[in-house]
Amino acid sequence: MNNNPINPNEKEVKNEQTIEINNSKKNNQMKCPSCGASELVPNPKTGKLRCNYCYTEFDGKELEGVEKNLKKLKGKRKGTGTKNIKEGANDVVTLKCGSCGAEVVIDTQNAPHARCHWCRSILSINSQIENGAIPDVILPFQTPKEVAQQKINDFVGKRNFFANPTFKKEFTTENIMGVYFPYVLVDGNCHAKLSGKGEHLVRSYTTGSGDNKKTYYDADLYKVERDFDITIDDLTIETNSNRLDKTSNTQTNNIINSIMPFDTENCIEYQSNYLIGYSSERRDVNIDDLEAKVNAELKDIAKYAAKEDAKFYDRGIKWESEDFKIIGSQWLAAYLPVWLYSYQEVKGNKKVLHYVAVNARTNETMGSVPINTPLLLLISTIIEIICGTLGLFLFLTTASDDNDKSIGFLLLFAAGFIFYGYIYSRYRNKSARHVYEKETKKEVTNMKRVDELLEHKKGLRNSMMEGRNENELIGEKTEVVRQKKEKNILK
Ligand SMILES: [Zn+2]
Ligand SMILES: [Zn+2]
Repeated sequence: MNNNPINPNEKEVKNEQTIEINNSKKNNQMKCPSCGASELVPNPKTGKLRCNYCYTEFDGKELEGVEKNLKKLKGKRKGTGTKNIKEGANDVVTLKCGSCGAEVVIDTQNAPHARCHWCRSILSINSQIENGAIPDVILPFQTPKEVAQQKINDFVGKRNFFANPTFKKEFTTENIMGVYFPYVLVDGNCHAKLSGKGEHLVRSYTTGSGDNKKTYYDADLYKVERDFDITIDDLTIETNSNRLDKTSNTQTNNIINSIMPFDTENCIEYQSNYLIGYSSERRDVNIDDLEAKVNAELKDIAKYAAKEDAKFYDRGIKWESEDFKIIGSQWLAAYLPVWLYSYQEVKGNKKVLHYVAVNARTNETMGSVPINTPLLLLISTIIEIICGTLGLFLFLTTASDDNDKSIGFLLLFAAGFIFYGYIYSRYRNKSARHVYEKETKKEVTNMKRVDELLEHKKGLRNSMMEGRNENELIGEKTEVVRQKKEKNILK
C-alpha cells in the first residue's frame, strides 16, 4: 500500500522493516478487577483510574512490544495509532454493551467513550479506528485543576500593568480546559559524523585610544571531527495541523509547544476512560507527512550533541560536512495533558487567540497576554524623551574618548524602544518554543574525536568565528507538507 507516490524516500522506506506495535485493549468495557463495576474514571489528584464503587485505584500498564533498548532499534517500529488517516472514515462506532447487551452508538467526534443509555455502564473505543482519534499511549493528567488555575493566575498577575483593559476585566480561570493534545513520540538509533573547522580564542587585546580604539583577537584554527553513535529518546512533535503552525498570526500555538518536555517515559497504554472529564484534540496529520521534519530534528539533536562535546571551540565551529544516518526508529502516537486558558482578542477585524498553557505533569507554564498598546506606546515615548534628552545632554557635556561611554549614550538614546521590546516580549512570548535540540533525552556512545591544530591566527577583528554554523537548526524550519486537509477538530 502506498498512497504517497512522490515520497523521495520511497526506496529507503521499502527496504525498511516496519513492525507494528499493537495495543491489546479491546473496545467495550474496562471492569474493576476488585468488584467488576465498569465505573472507572480518572482521579484528578493522582492521574490513576479509580472505581467509583469500591474506590480501588489502578496503575496504567505499559504498552507491550515497545523496544526499551534503543540501541537495538533497526528499521521502523510503529504503533498502530500512527496509521494514516482515512478521509471519510466513519466516526460512529456501534458497540454491544457487555453488561446488558444493548447496542450503544459512540460518535468519536465527541468522545471515544459513552454511557450505555440502559444500564449506565461506561463503554469505550480503544482499538484503532482510522480517523486519528485513538493513540497508542497516554500520559494521564496529574496536575489538579486548582493548581493549574493558580499557575495561570500567577502568570497573568505578573503581567498586569500593560495588559489590555478588556482582557483584565474578562480574565477568569473558571473555564480553563484540560485538553489531551495529540503528539508523535519518536525514538531514534542513529549515527552521526560531522567534520569541519573550529576556532579557539587565545587572547584579545585593544590598541589605540579614543576614537581609534580597536579590539583584536588571536585564535587557533583546528580541524574538527566528531563521529559517534547516538540514541534519541521520545522526540515529541505535535500531530494536529493547527498546533504545528507555530508562527500563526491568529493563534499563539508556540505557547503550547513551549511547555514541553513531558515525562513521556511514564506514558501508559491508551485507555479511553482516562479522557472522561477532559477534552481532546484529534490528530489530523499523517505521520508519514512528518517524516522530513522528524529526520531533521533528530539530526539537529545530533548536531547539538557534537557542539556540546566540542566546547573548546569557543569562537564557533563551521561544519563542512554532516553525515547523519538513522539505523532504526520507533514511533508511537500519544495523548499528552495540558491545562489551557484561552482568550480571543479582537482588534478591528483582526482576531488573535491568546493561550496560557500549563503542562499537566511538570506544571511548566507559559502564556501570551494581550497588551494595552496605547499605554505601552505612551510610556515608551515618555522614557524615550527623558532618556534621549539626558543622553544628549551628557553627550554634549562629556568629552567622549571611550568605547564604553559611547555604548552608554546609545542605550540612553534607544531606551524607549528597548523598553517597548522588553515589555512586548515579556507579555506575548512570541519566541517561546520547546528547545527540542537540547531538551530531548539522548545518549552518545563510541565518540571518536579529531582535533588537529591547523593555524595560529593573529589580529582577527571578529569576536566570533566567521561562517560558524554550529547553532543552525533545520527541523524548526522544516514545513510539514500535507497531502489533504479537510478537518480540524477541537472539542
Ligand atoms: Zn471496584
Ligand atoms: Zn448497558
